Amino acid sequence: MSLSVWFDLFLFVLLFVLFAYIFFAVRVTNLHKVYFVFHFFMMLWPLCQFATHIVQDPEIQFVYVSLSFAACLMLASGWLLFTLFLAGDAEKLEFRSIAPLFLPAAIVSIGIIANPFHLFTSPIRDGYVDRSYGPIFWLTMAVLACYFLASLIVLVRALRSPAASASLKNQIRLVLWGICVLVFFVGADVLFNVILADYLPIIPGLTSLGIFITALFFAFVITRYKVFDLVSIAHEDIINTIPHGILVLDEHDSVVEANRALRKFLDIREGSLFDIETFFASVRVTGDSKQFLEHYKRKDEDLFHIELFAERGNGLHFILQTSPIFDASRQPIGHILAFQDVSQERRLVQELNRQNDVLHERNRSLDRARMELSQANRKLEEMALTDSLTQCYNRRYLTQRLAKDMMLNVKPHTPFSFILFDIDFFKTVNDRYGHVVGDEVLYRTAEAVRQCIRQNDILARYGGEEFILYLPNTDRETARRLAEKVRSTVESNEIRLEQSAQAVSVTVSIGVLAIERFVRQPAFDDLDEYLLHVFAEADKSLYEAKNNGRNRIEVADVDQVSFWRNAELG
Ligand code: GH3
Ligand code: MG
Ligand code: MG
Repeated sequence: MSLSVWFDLFLFVLLFVLFAYIFFAVRVTNLHKVYFVFHFFMMLWPLCQFATHIVQDPEIQFVYVSLSFAACLMLASGWLLFTLFLAGDAEKLEFRSIAPLFLPAAIVSIGIIANPFHLFTSPIRDGYVDRSYGPIFWLTMAVLACYFLASLIVLVRALRSPAASASLKNQIRLVLWGICVLVFFVGADVLFNVILADYLPIIPGLTSLGIFITALFFAFVITRYKVFDLVSIAHEDIINTIPHGILVLDEHDSVVEANRALRKFLDIREGSLFDIETFFASVRVTGDSKQFLEHYKRKDEDLFHIELFAERGNGLHFILQTSPIFDASRQPIGHILAFQDVSQERRLVQELNRQNDVLHERNRSLDRARMELSQANRKLEEMALTDSLTQCYNRRYLTQRLAKDMMLNVKPHTPFSFILFDIDFFKTVNDRYGHVVGDEVLYRTAEAVRQCIRQNDILARYGGEEFILYLPNTDRETARRLAEKVRSTVESNEIRLEQSAQAVSVTVSIGVLAIERFVRQPAFDDLDEYLLHVFAEADKSLYEAKNNGRNRIEVADVDQVSFWRNAELG
């Protein structure tokens, strides 16, 4: 047997070693298992080539020959699947679309194995070591060429795709080299050993060598780039599915990785330069961009972030976070920039602020309404406690005020007094000038009295043309003096009438009652009764004043009145 036969066996052994190497070098996943089946088909070619030469029986030789070509077809279809995987298109494939991928290979394989009318191959010199080929062989070559062409298209498309990462492009380039090598060797085999077989000596092992070199490319891609490593696949998946934009830069600010989320709002490609200052000029930066850039350039270990606003669509709000990347010797070798889209949150906050403003405005108008209401209430209260004609307090107010003072404010033995006065001959005023003038006189008299009393004294209209002055903290003598002041003020008060040149003057008769020693032990059932009694006593003095000639004062002799059960006044 020639040495060339052993070359096929040698390549088979090498392929087997490669198989074992991959098996032990990687963490075997299901994807690796698929690859092992593929690799197994690759080993079949040199093995069958070798086996064809060592058996004598032409029928068994044919089995090996047909098996090696069928394995080649499986290999080519498997290759196409592998390139689809690599280009990231395989995830879109379902079993139903994968199956037709193998159909041409399977049909042609059946043709090869059946070899009807020696349409695939015919033995030369009673065996298949030397053989001639028929149309099924050329069909096989055509199908193989189609598979490789399809793989080529898939790979070139992936290489041009902007979505492909730099590392994926490296892998694709390697596999493309693998294809070229294999096509080159298979083509050479067909050219030299089939087409030019009659003119040139047979060059053995060409296809086997091509298969082996291709397998080397595969082994390199699988072990170096961990194509089938679920962890790195998962890593890429995670990076691409997280909602934040991730940008990885090397030490020269060249883009190493830009995930899918980032590419949605930043037109950036792997390998291009990313200048953060130019980027900052294109957005609105909230916060201290100078401090951020200093931190970025210093490559401090800790994370740093800043908020950005980009005028895109409805406007994009981002929180940009930067952190340097260090190698094993703690040398900075790049940056990771994470862009967190917070547009929705910011919009919600803005809406919340707007609603808060509306709420504040409503609160303010509510406050205004409440104030107006309380003013109106105060006014109403005032109206309820004031006499509308004279603007003096009315009797109800006086009673309330006295009740409060007697229950709470008046200290024992603190004096207080009352001045009860009545306009003299008021009926005559009415009769002479009419009621309107009478009203005017009432008002002007009250006004004059109000001017001459002290701040704490309370002037109330007792009824008709009768008024009462409550004088807290006032003894009899002071009350008498004040009564005199009232009397003289009224007497000298000339009321000018609008409708005539005349002036009206009135006088008042006054009864004064002073309670000099107050003891909070009333001899009456309730305060109202007590007050009626007090006013009746004051009224007696007023009556006396009237009887004694009017326009005068009578002071009640408090020795004669006893309001108290235990304390005798006097
Ligand atoms: P005397 O000196 O005894 O008090 O005589 P007088 O005329 O003042 O007393 P009399 O009780 O006889 O008359 C009081 C008059 O006061 C009768 C009433 O018409 C009048 N009068 C009471 N209230 C008002 C009022 O609000 N307006 C006016 N214009 N007159 C009033
Ligand atoms: Mg009167
Ligand atoms: Mg009267």
